[in-house]
This record gives sequence, structure tokens and C-alpha cells, in this order.
Amino acid sequence: MKPFDLQKITRKNIRDLVPYSSARSEYGGNAQVFLDANENNLAAAWSDYTRYPDPLQNRLKERVAALKEVDKRHIFLGNGSDEPIDLLMRAFCVPGKDNIITLLPTYGMYKVAADINDVTVIEVPMNEDFQPDVEQALASVTEASKILFICSPNNPTGNLISPNIIEALLTGFEGIVVLDEAYIDFAGGSVSWIPKLKYYPNLVILQTFSKAWGMAALRLGIAFASAEIVGILNKIKSPYNISLATQELALSALTHINDVTAAVAVIKEQRQLVAARLETLPFVEKVFPSDANFLLVRVTNANSLYQYLLDRNIVIRNRTNTPLCANCIRITIGTPTENEILLTALNDYADNQ
Ligand SMILES: *Cc1c(COP(=O)(O)O)cnc(C)c1O
Repeated sequence: MKPFDLQKITRKNIRDLVPYSSARSEYGGNAQVFLDANENNLAAAWSDYTRYPDPLQNRLKERVAALKEVDKRHIFLGNGSDEPIDLLMRAFCVPGKDNIITLLPTYGMYKVAADINDVTVIEVPMNEDFQPDVEQALASVTEASKILFICSPNNPTGNLISPNIIEALLTGFEGIVVLDEAYIDFAGGSVSWIPKLKYYPNLVILQTFSKAWGMAALRLGIAFASAEIVGILNKIKSPYNISLATQELALSALTHINDVTAAVAVIKEQRQLVAARLETLPFVEKVFPSDANFLLVRVTNANSLYQYLLDRNIVIRNRTNTPLCANCIRITIGTPTENEILLTALNDYADNQ
């Protein structure tokens, strides 16, 4: 395993930073009168939100910790996964100097966050099976490479990245490895890397309330990492990054675990059903295997199909301009009713060819 020195890869200005100290983090007790944060407590007559929320979301983290079987010191909560992606970039990559490595095709936000932070992106194509080429990825590493992003199951391809490959990248790369598990709940078995966090000081795992949890509008993402990395993220986040409303709604969502499990089972069943139906259509060339809640499908003419569906008020994702995805569309597995509407439209499209 390559040596990992967190201090060394952290930007100097972040190491030296004296973080903002909020009123709510300086005093943690149960006082009777709070006159420390310039709030308007007269509004308590009509509002439950007069007080600044817990900056570290302790109650919510305790529930997430219990669910994921990890200590709460290993959890960071963000305004969507987008927030930890951006914060990691800001903590470790010097603008105009450092770079990140991504494995194409993959989720577009890594590059956008890098571009915003003036961080160069080294893009390494995956092979035909959408698995990273470890040798090529590690050969592309430079002195200035700080973060490597792996998405598993990958968006937009839907497949899990092989554990041997993840392991080889984790041990062969000296910087931070971000493993984005946004779709992990749709994969079979216990395939999350959370139980292996303790073996890899450079591993950051991302999960989200946006997909299986059905809470995309809430904007809540989770990063799991060493207590030291979580400490750096906490130091640079905005003090009250998760609103009290979000914390409460997430706590309430967490009481619906059985409902979520049942919904995921329906989605996985529908995924198989939709894939089987798609394979019978004459314009479908390939339905790629999926461990996520979407299917990547190669068709004869993605642009024409995309437009046809739009005209029928059905929106899918056209991925034809994505590397290795020529003439591919990405279809989210919806409710059984939504899926049936899509399949009917696709049958009509076939009849009109
Ligand atoms: C949808 C998605 C996310 C989730 O982003 P949020 O900001 O948490 O909604 C993260 N990573 C990937 C690869 C995704 O597709």
C-alpha cells in the first residue's frame, strides 16, 4: 500500500485555517435563556425554526450511524452529495495547480466541481465492460493528483466496479479515493465498502438520500471517512449547512426503512421486467446489465428515439455524446405505471420504424 499522509495532501491554507466558531458550537449545554446568537425568539409564537440548528447534526448522525453500523465520528452530512464533492476539492486541490482523476464514462458533477475550483481533470477511459484499467489509471497519476473518483454502481453505465479494481486503486494511489455509492441500495448483497473504511485511511464513501431513500428534493448527502478527513470537512463547511427542517425530515424518513426496502425490491423486479421487454424491441441493440435504478440501453438511433419520447411527454436521458456510450440512452426505472407508459411508447416507436 502506498503511504498516505493526510497532512501532506491537505492544502496549506486549510491546515492553517482557524474555522468560524458559531454561538451554537461554543456553548453545548442546556441553558434556560439563549441570548448568544441574535435570533428573534418572539417568532416562536408562529415558527419552530427560530434557533440556529445543531451545526454537527448529532441526532441525525446517531441514527445514520446505527443504520450503517459505523461510528458517528466517521460521518459527514452535506447539502446533497454535491457538497462533500466540492468540499473535498477545496480541501485537497490547489486551484490552478492540482488535478483529480476520473474514470470515463461517469457522473458529470466531479468535472463540474473541479472546473469551478480551477482543478484539472485527468480523464481515463474504462474498458468495453465499463471497468477501469488500473494500470492506465495509475500511470496517469502525477505529483499533483489529489483525488481519484470511482462511482460504483457507476452512472450512467449501471454496473458495479469490481472489488479487486477498487482495492488496487485504493492501495496504488497516494491521494484520496472517493467511492460514490449513490446507487448501492439497488445492488445485490452487502457490497458497500463502509465495513472496510477502517482499512483505508484515504477512502471517502459517498451515499445520498436522493435515490433509494426517495428524498431528492431534501438535498442530503452523506460522506463516510476517517475521523480526520471528516474533521477537515467540518472545519471548512458553512457552519449551519444542514437546516433543521432537513434534519427533522431525514429523521422521519429514517423511520420508513421497511418501506424503502420494499420499494427497492419493486424497483429491482421492474428493472428485470423492463430490461426483458426492451430486449424484444427491434431497435434495441443492447441492454447493459444494471445494479442501479436505471438501465443504459444502446439503440439504433438515440437522438431520434429521444425526440420521439419527448414528443410523447416522456423524458429519458440521451447519453449519445458520452464517451463509450454512442447511441445510448439512460432510462430510470419508475413506478410500474410509468414503466408501462414508456414501454407502450417504445412499442409504438418500433411500429413506426
Ligand atoms: C444522483 C447521484 C448522486 C446524488 O447527488 P445528490 O447531490 O446527493 O442528490 C451522487 N452521485 C451520483 C453518481 C449520482 O448519480
